[in-house]
Amino acid sequence: MNITGRWAEASRFAAGSHIAVFSHDPDIAAIGRLLGFEFRDTILVLHPGPRTSFIFLFRAPVAGSVAEQVLQTGTGGLHIGASRIGGLRWPTNLVLVHSQTCGTVCASECPAVTLDRQSGERPAGGAITTSNQGPAAGSYHGGGSGASAWSGYGDAGGASRFYPSFKDVEELASWVARLIGADCAPHSTIVTSQQVHDIPT
Ligand SMILES: [Zn+2]
Repeated sequence: MNITGRWAEASRFAAGSHIAVFSHDPDIAAIGRLLGFEFRDTILVLHPGPRTSFIFLFRAPVAGSVAEQVLQTGTGGLHIGASRIGGLRWPTNLVLVHSQTCGTVCASECPAVTLDRQSGERPAGGAITTSNQGPAAGSYHGGGSGASAWSGYGDAGGASRFYPSFKDVEELASWVARLIGADCAPHSTIVTSQQVHDIPT
């Protein structure tokens, strides 16, 4: 494991910058704390299969108050507005990644289907619509514009409509990048488990 090496690198990030670690290893939360990061949150990711993974959110130590840090360097705050889904409560600690075979109706192995089955209330018709009426209108895949294209189920339905859902891990990563401000705060970053293992010792 090269996690320590990766965190040694991460510790050089600007005060208040955020680090999102995509991992299957629940020990990441403890490792980050031991290395001096402020542990902010864990997001559970449900994948098709079913499989699960985690996104651990950390913040490099803040000098002074968070407000002062944001004013000085633009780091320290989470960009909640950029990641809010509809009018739903934030933060959410559960997100869904659809099956590659989900279309207008989710595939049986999709975690949204599993979640709705477990919630005891199925969406009427099970239909999925998108707000993006592009060339692939009516089909979720190819809808194009990220999580915002996902309008979820209709008025009635199972629990899955309360959680952000993404067509694949890449789309999920884009959402997390907006959440931690990686697009405008250059010191915030996403660390995937693959990258953790790729860091040379
Ligand atoms: Zn699905």
